Amino acid sequence: MGIKSDINELKAWLPQVRRDIVRMVHAVQSGHPGGSLGCTEFFVALFQYVMDHDPATFTMDGRDQDIFFLSNGHITPVYYSVLARSGFFPVSELATFRRINSRLQGHPATHEHLPGVRVATGSLGQGLSVAIGAALAKKLNGDLHTVYTLQGDGELQEGQIWEAAMFAAHHKVDNLVVTIDRNNRQIDGDVSEVMDLGDLKAKFEAFGWLVVECENGNDLVEVAEALLLAKSLTRNEKPVVLIMKTEMGHGVDFMMGSHEWHGIAPNDEQLRRALEQNPETLGDY
Ligand SMILES: [Mg+2]
Repeated sequence: MGIKSDINELKAWLPQVRRDIVRMVHAVQSGHPGGSLGCTEFFVALFQYVMDHDPATFTMDGRDQDIFFLSNGHITPVYYSVLARSGFFPVSELATFRRINSRLQGHPATHEHLPGVRVATGSLGQGLSVAIGAALAKKLNGDLHTVYTLQGDGELQEGQIWEAAMFAAHHKVDNLVVTIDRNNRQIDGDVSEVMDLGDLKAKFEAFGWLVVECENGNDLVEVAEALLLAKSLTRNEKPVVLIMKTEMGHGVDFMMGSHEWHGIAPNDEQLRRALEQNPETLGDY
C-alpha cells in the first residue's frame, strides 16, 4: 500500500490542480480559490508523496491507512482536485462542484458518500478535535498509521483549537501531524489585524507540542521535506505541528498579495488570465 511518487514528477500536478481550482469556482461563480491555490503544494505532497494510503480501498474508518481531515473545510476546490486526481473518484466529477445534489458540496459533507471525505467540516475549529479522536482510536486499535489535518491560521482564533491542543499534549496523542496554513490571511483581512496569533511556535511549545516550520509552503520539495520531518517526530509522546508559510492565491498573479480572493470567483477574463499562467499538464476535466 501507499503512494510513493517521484517528487519532481509531481511538479506537473501543480498547474493542473490550480486550473481545476479556478475552473471549478468560475463555473458556478462560487467557492474559495485563494486558500486553495495557496495549499496546492501541500495537498500534492501529502496525498501523493507522504501519506501511506490507498485511494482504491477507501473506508470511512480509515483503519490501517494514514488519514486526513480538512479542518478549514472551505478550501474544497484543492481538496477535491487532488482527491480526484489521486483516484478517490472520477476526475470528471469535478464538473459537478457546488451543483445541486452533487457529492462535491461547497464544504465537505459525508452524507453524499464522497470517497476521501470522513467528516463534514467548515465550521472552523472542529477538525482538530475530530483528528485527535481518530488518532486515539488508531492507538486503541493497535493501528500504527498517522492522522493528518490542515488548519487555517485564522481558524486558530477559535477557542476549541486550544482546548484540543491542551488535550492532545496531555493524552500524548503522538500519532498526529497538524499543519497550519500560515498565510496571515482570513476572510476579513490580515490575521495579524483581525486578531493576532502572536508567536505561534512558542504557543504550541508551551502547550507541549513539537513544532516544525516550513518557510516556503509553495515550494513542493520544501513542503514534502517538512511533512516527512514532522512524520519522523511522531511516536515520541508529543503531538506534532507543522507551521507552513504560504501565500493565499499563489500561482495566479492577481489573486496574490491580499485576502480579497478568499471567497470570490473569477469572471471570464480573470479565468482566462489565470489559466494562461497555469498550463494544462494532466488533462482538464
Ligand atoms: Mg489564513
